[in-house]
Amino acid sequence: MTKNNLPISIAIIGGGFSGSIVAAHLLINATFPLNIKLIERRPTFGRGVAYGTKYGCHLLNVPAAKMSAFPDDPEHFLRWVQKEEQSRGNLMPSVVKPDTFVPRKIYGEYVQAVLDEAEAAAKENVQLERIKNEAVSISPDANGATVSLSTGQTLRADKIVLALGNFPPTDPAIQDKSFYTSLRYVSYPWSPHALSDIDPNDAVLLIGSGLTMLDLAVALKEQGHAGAIHVVSRHGLLPYPHKFTTPYPAFLSVEGAPKAIRSLVRLVREEVKNAIARGYDWRAVLDSLRPITQQLWQQLPLEEQRRFLRHVRIYWEVHRHRVSPGVADIVAEMLHSEQMVVHAGRIQAYDEDDEAVDVAIRKRHTTDIEVVRVARVINSTGTECDYRKFGHPLIQNLRSHGFIRSDALAIGLDVSPNGALLDVDGVVSQILYTLGPPRQGRLWETTAVPEIRVQAQELAQELLRSRNYS
Ligand SMILES: Cc1cc2nc3c(=O)[nH]c(=O)nc-3n(C[C@H](O)[C@H](O)[C@H](O)COP(=O)(O)OP(=O)(O)OC[C@H]3O[C@@H](n4cnc5c(N)ncnc54)[C@H](O)[C@@H]3O)c2cc1C
Repeated sequence: MTKNNLPISIAIIGGGFSGSIVAAHLLINATFPLNIKLIERRPTFGRGVAYGTKYGCHLLNVPAAKMSAFPDDPEHFLRWVQKEEQSRGNLMPSVVKPDTFVPRKIYGEYVQAVLDEAEAAAKENVQLERIKNEAVSISPDANGATVSLSTGQTLRADKIVLALGNFPPTDPAIQDKSFYTSLRYVSYPWSPHALSDIDPNDAVLLIGSGLTMLDLAVALKEQGHAGAIHVVSRHGLLPYPHKFTTPYPAFLSVEGAPKAIRSLVRLVREEVKNAIARGYDWRAVLDSLRPITQQLWQQLPLEEQRRFLRHVRIYWEVHRHRVSPGVADIVAEMLHSEQMVVHAGRIQAYDEDDEAVDVAIRKRHTTDIEVVRVARVINSTGTECDYRKFGHPLIQNLRSHGFIRSDALAIGLDVSPNGALLDVDGVVSQILYTLGPPRQGRLWETTAVPEIRVQAQELAQELLRSRNYS
């Protein structure tokens, strides 16, 4: 029996991939009266930051065969996209195969379709309410929680899932921050207007050299940009391209792995050397670690995890989070033609006049200063994950009441294995849960679909299991 025989209510804040797939699992599997409230501030559900792009050149960085929303049905996305291709025609320039990197905006349609189908298949007393609004505060109490929305309305829920996903980057640290209020500066790289009103011959500067920068560079190319594209990051390293490889056999067990990051890196490097000598690609060696990456991370002592973040993270990111060959080719051509110039260093100062802005960059490991003159500067340093820095009212509210706390590394939220959040005193919440990027501190690998889809399924099971909430 549910309390007073009323339907159980679960509010999911964030209707990107994570929130939508938790909702889909709840719709499909609930066997008792359930009201799901999916709250999303963007105009559409199911897309979130990653799949809300308008650019066809923004491709998935995971091949179609690995992008199913359902871990138990790995070909679900492939079948969907092939069927869509048949019925709609020219969805893609060529036939979609398991190794095709599909445009992300098509993947957004897939997530929407998964949610719609789950809603249509749900039992009559299992309902989905899509609420286009922004959650600004949560007040948990003995019987659930009240969620306040930016329009002043409130709603009640027994359980709440924070599927807040990817937060925008913070402005790079610099002494004089006044330039960050300039119209020449774009702080939110995923804004649909980030690349509007740029003269195609103007020079631009992209801060950061990871996947977000590549997104902007290929979108500039798609809109016919001919001017210089300067890129600056501390190391000047770009993500490597994907390549289809012969799978490499597992070479490391969780039990046998070193618990010190130095030894672990040495061991992987040795393995890569041996593998290359035997005709394998280094990518296959790294990919063989993926099934145990979360466990390897979890058994590292905190100090070793810190060491990883300080010294290894950047190298891990560019080797592990690779880019589709199509995007890599466009960027290689931009580098070859010198339209794109990569600077390794740190921004020292901005000097803006009526025409442009001079950006002074101190070159890596030197005191040399290089100045680039550009018409626009876009912060593409990637997602921010330090919850202590977020000024969003919802996070401020949760933080100030002690309902959440950052994990020990401040790269996400402190969370128990079942996804329940820990409060400021370390007490596991019976009401608040999360999944996806906020679980980074606990899991490290938790940003891509292959990891999040498992969490979404398990979290929905957990929420349905604990249904006698009163
Ligand atoms: C640019 C980019 C490209 C990516 N490409 C890939 C890829 O190709 N393959 C892959 O596997 N992974 C990719 N990822 C990783 C991505 O994190 C996951 O695939 C997944 O999309 C994460 O979904 P999410 O719902 O957790 O987060 P998000 O997509 O960030 O969605 C969170 C949603 O919550 C909403 N929200 C937040 N706060 C509130 C609030 N207070 N009230 C209401 N709504 C709120 C936001 O508007 C947003 O729509 C990419 C990530 C990014 C940023």
